[in-house]
Amino acid sequence: MSHDYTIATLGSHSALQILKGAKDEGFKTLVVALKKHVSFYQRFPFIDEIISVNVFSEFPEVEKKLKDKKIIVIPHGSFVAYLGMEGNKKITLPYFGNKKVLGFEFDRIKQGDWLKKSGINTPEEYKNIQDVEFPVIIKSFGAAGGKGYFLANNKQELETKIKHFKNKSFIIQKYIIGVPLYLHYFYSPLTKTLEILSMDRRYETNVDSLGRIPFNVEPSYVVVGNSPLVLRESMLPEAYEMGEKVVKKSRELINSQGLFGPFCLETIITPDQKFYVIEISARIVAGTNLFIKGSPYSDLLYNQPMSTGRRIAKEIKLAIEKNKLNLILDKRA
Ligand code: AMP
Ligand code: AMP
Repeated sequence: MSHDYTIATLGSHSALQILKGAKDEGFKTLVVALKKHVSFYQRFPFIDEIISVNVFSEFPEVEKKLKDKKIIVIPHGSFVAYLGMEGNKKITLPYFGNKKVLGFEFDRIKQGDWLKKSGINTPEEYKNIQDVEFPVIIKSFGAAGGKGYFLANNKQELETKIKHFKNKSFIIQKYIIGVPLYLHYFYSPLTKTLEILSMDRRYETNVDSLGRIPFNVEPSYVVVGNSPLVLRESMLPEAYEMGEKVVKKSRELINSQGLFGPFCLETIITPDQKFYVIEISARIVAGTNLFIKGSPYSDLLYNQPMSTGRRIAKEIKLAIEKNKLNLILDKRA
């Protein structure tokens, strides 16, 4: 039964959504929060327990204290940002998701390969400067959230900017001019169905305000928030197909369990209505926070408010009922 289990997460990113959804599905809830944020999380009646830490990197010690309880950890963007890929892999408590996917997500080459082999449209990448078609975006490995990205509009600019990277690895990618649309999917390994639960448009500073100034400024892509968006219905079937293709390919490339649970395809849509997938996030993304009460898309699938956080809890509940938790939890240390 769901009330025998506690859903736990780190206090930031989409923790409120995850824990509200867990409570709505009958679970006990626990948040590991920074000391300075304990009083903030106390405001929310759907959080049963708060464990405070000085820094999130203390998580391994917290885990030891929880190992005898029936805990299920739900990862989100802060797990990656504060524990790193290795820190995630080392989590010993039952973890919702497939940790094998992390390696494919974090290595830009492996990720690009996965997306391309899935047969979805991705921006051209260039190995040699001679082949480049401008404009391009240069991304260093390990850069996140658009920090450490550079644009170049001609060969000279590219050669100058590449010098910033010195010993770092980077990729040169065609810069796609269009509307950024982030699609929030959920794949259920229990029912073997893919759902689009919501979508958002990111709001990034300063790139989203450059149209308001009359001179050239180097854009940055630091996310400050998200706004909702609905897609032309005629483009929705392709959005579903793209999600299905990456799930299918993950089972061939990664392991038989593949990608499941929440994930996001970050796309740019050009004036000819083509999707270019620039990145995949293999977990709940913060843009889903817009839809704690559900979205137009989740309303089409569920007769109750269905956030991504709640959808995760629903999947876990179903797995408990069917005695199939092994299909959705990664327990490897
Ligand atoms: P924070 O908890 O704000 O420190 O964020 C943790 C991680 O999630 C960082 O890598 C952020 O870049 C990312 N993040 C936080 N909020 C958002 C958002 N609204 N959209 C996309 N990414 C976000
Ligand atoms: P990412 O780190 O991949 O999430 O990218 C951060 C932001 O950089 C995106 O939300 C886009 O605004 C921008 N971006 C990344 N790659 C491209 C690209 N190939 N073309 C246009 N914009 C891009």
